[in-house]
Amino acid sequence: RLEDLLDRLEALEGKPYPFYKDLKGVWRGKGFALRFVYVQGDPFATPSVLEAIYPGEALEALRVYTREEGRVAVEDFLLRALKARLRDLPRLAGSGHSGAVRVEVESPKVLRRAGAHLGKKALSLRFRVGLPAQGRRILGREARRLFQALSRHLEAFLQELDREALLRHVRQAEDFAFIQERLAERGLVAFVGEGSLLPRESGVSQRPLKGAVPFQSPPSLKVAFRTPHAGEVWGMGLPQGLTLITGGGFHGKTTLLEALVHGVFPHVPGDGREWVVTDPLAQRVQSEDGRSMKGVDLRPFVHDLPLGQDTAFFSTEDASGSTSLAAAILEALEMGARVLLLDEDTSATNLLVRDARMQALVRRETLTPILDRVQDFKALGVSLVLVVGGVGDYLDLADTVVLMEAYRPQEVTAEARAIARAHPTGRAFGEPRYPLRAVPRAPLPASFDPRRGRKEKVKGRGLRELVYGEETVDLSALDLFENAQVRALGALFKRLGRLADGRTPLKALVERALLGVEDLFALEEAPELAWVRPLELAAAANRLRGLEVVQV
Ligand code: ADP
Ligand code: MG
Repeated sequence: RLEDLLDRLEALEGKPYPFYKDLKGVWRGKGFALRFVYVQGDPFATPSVLEAIYPGEALEALRVYTREEGRVAVEDFLLRALKARLRDLPRLAGSGHSGAVRVEVESPKVLRRAGAHLGKKALSLRFRVGLPAQGRRILGREARRLFQALSRHLEAFLQELDREALLRHVRQAEDFAFIQERLAERGLVAFVGEGSLLPRESGVSQRPLKGAVPFQSPPSLKVAFRTPHAGEVWGMGLPQGLTLITGGGFHGKTTLLEALVHGVFPHVPGDGREWVVTDPLAQRVQSEDGRSMKGVDLRPFVHDLPLGQDTAFFSTEDASGSTSLAAAILEALEMGARVLLLDEDTSATNLLVRDARMQALVRRETLTPILDRVQDFKALGVSLVLVVGGVGDYLDLADTVVLMEAYRPQEVTAEARAIARAHPTGRAFGEPRYPLRAVPRAPLPASFDPRRGRKEKVKGRGLRELVYGEETVDLSALDLFENAQVRALGALFKRLGRLADGRTPLKALVERALLGVEDLFALEEAPELAWVRPLELAAAANRLRGLEVVQV
């Protein structure tokens, strides 16, 4: 019982730290139980993991969802509520992480998280607590004080939930899912609701920019969805095909594209991007000097290198701007991406376009620019959303042109076509030598062995790096929003290592690995794990320098 726990804690006063290990197990409180999942070795180590378990009867009030995404939203809401609630626990004395309480939710994305699980029989919420000590001596009385306060909060937690806020959270996520699954059948790649606030306060902040100009759809692109909860929601529907987002510098082009990148996930109410909904199979691709790539058939974009070097199975530890962009596109296609998001700012120019003059001057070209592939992308059913400020050659081919002016989008497709006719580029549209297709690759199991270099260390560093054994995988070109996603990649890599057999294509492997993500989250002790899409898991695997593949 919980009272016994409190007594035990007090009795540990002055004892050596490892005595905390004896607390492992379940302690019953009023309406909930507290489980010590993992006990840290000293006050400076990563804090201990605790789990609050609420039994079935208490949970009926939480079953306000009508679909799986809604249940995930309930879980996400509960973790956020717990985080807010435990923020004002008493500060304790002690060294290291003594008394630190951490509930992990880092971004306004509504994600499946290892920290919360609402099952049929129970709700469990996991978080970290730094068990207090002075040096290596347990501060038992401080621990008692902490756990007393903690259990009071946990006891009241479910009864004192903000029901209205819970409903808003869940309904938002369900409406999001509703729109998202209808985009493709409506011929759209994305939806941006009227009044959305797209810009963020700063490059490192997730909060909406104060005083931002609310999003206003161009009349010609305005569409509505009749959502189950919010009713009719209006906004801009971006059609499939080739869409250009253009405009002068500083008029909000990149901000709109960024919002589309984020829009593959639902956002919490109040974020400003709640009604930005992007095709779930959309992926941003960009140039990435120095990245590693393994066994990619690059010929659709890079071919006939001068010294006869073959690009049908291309590997490098140090890719250039154009080869890295080509690889990112082909890897995305290999994974079944349906929408590619590109910004001129982060795309190698020579892979975007070769203009008439360069065509005339350079005959032995080894690159087929994306411009010469637009029809092929369409034939594959893959849409492109391209931010361009400087490259006008795409105007001929665009299905939709959106001009950003002072953060207000206008549709200028007809105008763009007229301009394209009046100012012909004079460039010849090449007939590419190789078809646009991605050759599937099967990873060898050794690729994912974290012990390859002896050190079996798996650790996420911020959003940009995953330490995996001896290797540090550079994830800066991936769109990850929480360190918990980076950590999940590490756990999933291990699982890929178990599933890989040198025959199964990466796409199937990744999907299989993610199928059991719920179990994976339950098995791992750490609560800091969050959902990643198959596209990001594959993108991370593709950047692993130890990756070995065969084409299948
Ligand atoms: P571009 O890519 O066209 O050069 P950006 O998207 O980078 O422009 O936007 C330029 C600046 O304008 C950024 O600092 C951004 O925060 C700000 N901004 C973008 N959209 C809005 C908006 N709707 N309201 C106010 N400021 C905005
Ligand atoms: Mg820009």
